[in-house]
Amino acid sequence: VAGAFIHDCEVVVTMDDEGTEIRGGSILIEDGTIAWVGNGEPPGGTTDAKRVDGRGAVAIPGLVNTHHHLYQAMTRVRAQDQGLFGWLAALYPIWAGVDADWERAAAAVGLAELALSGCTTSTDHHYVFPPGVPGLLEAEIDSARELGIRFHPCRGSMDLGQRNGGLPPDSVIQDTDAVLAETEEAVGRFHDPRPGAMLRVAVAPCSPFSATDRLMRESAELARRLGVRLHTHIAETLDEESFCVERFGRRPLELLEDQGWLGPDVWLAHCVHLSGDDIRRMAETGTAVASCPTSNLRLGSGVAPLRPLIDAGATVGLGVDGSASNDGANLLGEVRMAMLTARVRDRVSDARAMSVREALRLGTRGGAACLGRAGELGSLEPGKRGDVALFSVDGLGFAGAEADPVAAVVLCSPPRVRDLFVDGRAVVRDGRLANAEEEALARDGHRVARRIADRAGGTGE
Ligand SMILES: [Zn+2]
Repeated sequence: VAGAFIHDCEVVVTMDDEGTEIRGGSILIEDGTIAWVGNGEPPGGTTDAKRVDGRGAVAIPGLVNTHHHLYQAMTRVRAQDQGLFGWLAALYPIWAGVDADWERAAAAVGLAELALSGCTTSTDHHYVFPPGVPGLLEAEIDSARELGIRFHPCRGSMDLGQRNGGLPPDSVIQDTDAVLAETEEAVGRFHDPRPGAMLRVAVAPCSPFSATDRLMRESAELARRLGVRLHTHIAETLDEESFCVERFGRRPLELLEDQGWLGPDVWLAHCVHLSGDDIRRMAETGTAVASCPTSNLRLGSGVAPLRPLIDAGATVGLGVDGSASNDGANLLGEVRMAMLTARVRDRVSDARAMSVREALRLGTRGGAACLGRAGELGSLEPGKRGDVALFSVDGLGFAGAEADPVAAVVLCSPPRVRDLFVDGRAVVRDGRLANAEEEALARDGHRVARRIADRAGGTGE
């Protein structure tokens, strides 16, 4: 049933090890898996696969979003001129009101935006669990299922409140034992370790300034006992670095290493402020980076050292981050932003610092590796899952870009995806969501956001 024959594409960008691109190429997906990629008709025919005309479109592996906070979609454009700590202080009290209705609407909006930008797999990092509010993880998992997107929610947590020297108000933190018990329960209920899984869960205490040393250490032990991945924020701002040095006598990445965190089962959001030693340790331990360039610029955090990380051999993927600091969820736009910012890091302008195709590789294979899915996702090769994004390159924004249609997808204004497939099933068809009504999701998002705004007021300036 989950079969498609996407034929006669302008270019198929396989993103294989050699970077093979096939002019006029076609892709056959059978039983959710890529069966063949090449020119013309597959040797064994296309059986009953649904035929999709790829003419005028560039096919790339579905983009993988490695960092997000979906609930934040309902609190965009607030604290517009604040750095991370001021921004968080303005938003925590509003986020304390999160409930399942909010979460469901926000996840539907955020995941739909991602899908329409070419994203087939997304993670989420939900870390606000107000006491007595049920159904938050369930709500976002339901939204992902309805849309048909592959989903890796992280069970986030905060247990270090203001009373004990943390940044968040005590109203949004949880008891450490409760966090660990609920996280284990969430993994037991939702995590699917099987190949081709549509749903996997990770363990994800929030940050050094909102999680205790005990929570960090025991979260790592829990994740390893359960065989799931570990995620957190680290080295996002210089304020965070000062906090870690003052409280723990260590810089953020040293602290994480001391807490037993670095390893090939870990991916870390941001990593903007890394020393040369930090970069070396990331690469040596196989710890991956989820880089979120737009959010880092919006909050004035800085530009992550992507070129040095990649040169050292570290794994790098891309994330849009929550929509309270982006304030959109366009992952193709993030590929473009990663390429642009890599070229101006540390005021050393070098147009060779990152190529278009290298940026695309971060958004596809890099992301797949961050989520532990390098063997299944991130390239269009036989045996990989049938996750494909098709971008039309015959519209207005691409007139004149005929010299390199693949580069056009990254260099020109980020277009809406034309067709999107997950396991060969349509998630977007002709620029429209295949499994939901976009206008209804937008209406519901505006309804929930108005309810939040009525309570919160202002923009938090
Ligand atoms: Zn984040």
